[in-house]
Amino acid sequence: MRSARQTDEERALALAGQGRAVALFRLVLAFMLVVMTTFAAVEGWRIWRDYRDAFHNAANMVTNLAQATAQHAEDAIRQVDSISAALVERVQGDGFEHLDRKRMHGLLSQQVRIIPQLHGLFIYDSHGRWLVTDRSATPPAANNGDRDYFIYHRDHPDSAIRIGAVVRSRSTGDLIVPISRRLNYPDGRFAGVLLGTIKVDWFVRYYGEFKIDERGALVLAKRDGTILVRRPFVEPLLERNLANSDIFKHHLPYAAQGLVEAVAVVDGTPRLYAYRALASYPLVVEAGLSRESIIAPWRQDAIKSLVVLLVLVMVLALFGWVVLRQVRERIVIERALHQAHQTLKTLALTDSLTGLGNRRRLDAVFEPELRRARRQAYPVCVVMLDLDHFKAYNDRYGHAAGDQCLQRFGELLRQAAQRPADLAVRYGGEEFTLLLPDTDVRGAKAFVETLQQALRKEMLVHAGSPLGIVSFSAGIAVAEPTRSEQSPQQLLEAADAALYEAKRQGRDRYAVADP
Ligand code: GH3
Ligand code: MG
Ligand code: MG
Repeated sequence: MRSARQTDEERALALAGQGRAVALFRLVLAFMLVVMTTFAAVEGWRIWRDYRDAFHNAANMVTNLAQATAQHAEDAIRQVDSISAALVERVQGDGFEHLDRKRMHGLLSQQVRIIPQLHGLFIYDSHGRWLVTDRSATPPAANNGDRDYFIYHRDHPDSAIRIGAVVRSRSTGDLIVPISRRLNYPDGRFAGVLLGTIKVDWFVRYYGEFKIDERGALVLAKRDGTILVRRPFVEPLLERNLANSDIFKHHLPYAAQGLVEAVAVVDGTPRLYAYRALASYPLVVEAGLSRESIIAPWRQDAIKSLVVLLVLVMVLALFGWVVLRQVRERIVIERALHQAHQTLKTLALTDSLTGLGNRRRLDAVFEPELRRARRQAYPVCVVMLDLDHFKAYNDRYGHAAGDQCLQRFGELLRQAAQRPADLAVRYGGEEFTLLLPDTDVRGAKAFVETLQQALRKEMLVHAGSPLGIVSFSAGIAVAEPTRSEQSPQQLLEAADAALYEAKRQGRDRYAVADP
């Protein structure tokens, strides 16, 4: 039926209206997601960059520290090296038997006074006895023949400088690094040892001057892993050996300097280390900053940023939620409005008694239907129907019964108008109109006849009619828009005239208008 098609169109329109609101909803949602993701991405990138920078800066710092401490150690030892070389040359040149102990003592104590890191200068004979030192007094029966360096030089003919492990001085009780050389007789036999000692404290004080946190570490060690000095310094550390540490095992053999992230063997702290082997001596320095001290400031900053981001996202989410709720409300209201509108529209175009369309609906559809028929070149039939002797029916059975009769007829009409495009309306009173697109006269006649049979079958008693049952008369007008142009008005008048003719001929029949 015609009304079904109209409903489809209306539904499509309704969907388009709601579609806009749904699109808006999606737009807002997408916008929020984009903004939040952007914020998160930018912040995330910044935090990552800061993390990278923190390590980069720390790497620079430990590299500089390693460089400075290496240079310091190298300078300190080189001075002692050079003095001892000169002294060895002098002692061996003069010969032991001609050694002027007094002058030599003056020379040694002068050197010790001038060079601040120097703790003492000692010359031992081939049995380890103190021959000359920088000290004014020599302890009675002092003998250093048991010292490492003494035994080494006695047993090794090489004349190179030897840096020993830290020992406690027998003369002063200080911790010292022994730097020694072998003394020879002219024939090459072992004549004794020349020893210069450097105060460990000299290094400890220097290392203490750097501004690094207490978890940072500075280490001076022998190439074999023996620790000489370390910041923070405690004596038991001197027993520890770094030979098995990551740096000594896996890095030093391949590169004289480098950057390593490693867990310290001494205290188990994860650090970023720069290490450096000294150029002239078998010594290594390590400068390390604890991972924690590198990360802590960054972490604090990152937490602050994250909190701000979180608050921002929450505010944004709240804002979005409010907007989305409003949009949703709008959708609901639009839907309700639309439904109300639809209902009103349906009511306005519907006949309340029969549920068929009314005259307004016919008016709305007629004109477009004729245009369509012209375009698609098919005929359109208009049928006017009028119940016979209906006034008498009303008079005899009452108005309510008359209404019932009209409803029943309306129902039959609805059943007869099977094609979707067929439109049946109550035109007014006991008059009905049919609009049958794509139907010729034969089709219209068949339609009316079917309806007549259906009504007769109903056997609606009408004592006031000569037939004894309710009947109707009909007038058919056909429009062939391709041949002649007719207005809806003209067609209705033609159908009405035909109806009048059918009435005139005796009712319960139909007539066809002249084309
Ligand atoms: P004819 O066969 O010539 O059509 O005679 P008729 O009595 O049907 O024609 P007329 O136009 O004189 O009377 C129409 C009657 O239809 C008038 C009224 O009593 C009745 N009528 C019109 N509208 C309604 C309605 O809504 N309900 C009822 N119950 N009766 C109606
Ligand atoms: Mg009438
Ligand atoms: Mg009538």
